[in-house]
Amino acid sequence: MPQEAIVPLIEGPREACGVFAAYTPRQRVSSVIYFGLYALQHRGQESAGIATSDGETVTVFKDLGLVAQVFDEPALAGLDGHLGIGHARYSTTGSNNWANAQPAHRQVGNTSFALGHNGNLTNTRDLATRLGIKGATTDSDLMAEGIARALDDERSDARGLEMAIMEVAPTWEGAFSLVLMDQGRIVGLRDPNGFRPLCLGSLPEGGWVIASETAALDMVGAQFVREVAAGEMVVIDAGGVHSYPISHNVKPGLCLFEFVYFARPDSHMYGRGIHAARHQMGVTLAAEHPADGDVVVPVPESGLPAAQGFAAASGIPYADGLVKNRYIGRTFIEPTQNLRDRGIRLKLNPIPDNLRGRRVVLVDDSIVRGSTTRKLVQIVRDAGAVEVHLRVSSPPYRWPCFYGMDTSDRSELLAAERSVEDIAAFLEVDSLAYLSLEGLLGATGADPEGFCTACLSGEYPTPVPIDADKLLLERL
Ligand code: SF4
Repeated sequence: MPQEAIVPLIEGPREACGVFAAYTPRQRVSSVIYFGLYALQHRGQESAGIATSDGETVTVFKDLGLVAQVFDEPALAGLDGHLGIGHARYSTTGSNNWANAQPAHRQVGNTSFALGHNGNLTNTRDLATRLGIKGATTDSDLMAEGIARALDDERSDARGLEMAIMEVAPTWEGAFSLVLMDQGRIVGLRDPNGFRPLCLGSLPEGGWVIASETAALDMVGAQFVREVAAGEMVVIDAGGVHSYPISHNVKPGLCLFEFVYFARPDSHMYGRGIHAARHQMGVTLAAEHPADGDVVVPVPESGLPAAQGFAAASGIPYADGLVKNRYIGRTFIEPTQNLRDRGIRLKLNPIPDNLRGRRVVLVDDSIVRGSTTRKLVQIVRDAGAVEVHLRVSSPPYRWPCFYGMDTSDRSELLAAERSVEDIAAFLEVDSLAYLSLEGLLGATGADPEGFCTACLSGEYPTPVPIDADKLLLERL
């Protein structure tokens, strides 16, 4: 497997990871985890890994690449046992190399444990100092090391892993949805804000699964039981599911971008289907910002439900105007601008018959850096559109995310310092409008207080790293 950077051919917001865990006394756990990870591939495409246990020995297999590239039948057959965890990674901290692939593994005395992390810690420097670790590392590795040290403090009893987690979890700040395991149990854990999703499912033939999204439960035939709560740890062993609080300072703040972009449309969170919420975003957007157009065209694929909602509410006909090549995802290429420019045409191609001579209302879910959107607008114009009116089903993305989305550099954000008029001029559109934050929160159908909105509002639910963005902190 080559070690170069893997770059996306088209830039959207990028997510940290997908995690999955299974306790399956009646079937080969590695296959269940494989298909669970397969359903979570959209959350991370740089590396994939699975760790399993037969009750005695923990075995780990991981590599760079997509789930289907990393695992084949012999690799899965070598992962023995009835319990395990899996991880699909996108690197928001640490570079993309084999050592940073997860699950992270430690052996402490008789305890062998593995960990998979979705999210970003915001106090990694403090943690590294506390643990005496110098040089490059990842937040996930620091968590594994912290647990290993707590285990070292003579915890060899049967509940050693969960006691060690409960001891060190209060030292972690920021976003962590974790799956862990030792020889005899799996563990799911969410930070006190619950920035990243995590849910629990049961298998009809007996057993349990934990996953980033409900779509992964569907994939393996598991029934949704409930979401793992913010600040909760669930431990699953031969005795069933046990729940423990890891914090008394719980304030749910699920990432609002899960509803906008990250999550699969066939998942649900807070009891609301993601597709239905995105459709409603389009309905509200049409009411807030009508457009004079002949046709509503989505930016595939996450802009699709919002475009359908916009078309239904506005009465403007819906048409596909851009086709996504489903078989090009990520590739091992040098991340030069030149290749990225070409990459967009490889991934999205116009249907001129649906665009030529039309006033096009182009609907996208978000604009983060803007370079892709600008090129898309040009593609639509080149295909014959006479006007392009861009409607975005989320508010301007103005503030960096420290909780797992790849936007910690504010200078890269198109809307950071620009007005909507300036952005419209940059994108060369005839008009531009964004869904309001109230409209977006309303479209989720969930309690608006239950979300993190920091990248859209500048209101961070937790302290953010002092040196991460000095300009931002001066403003705050
Ligand atoms: Fe999600 Fe934005 Fe909060 Fe990051 S800052 S967790 S992307 S809502």
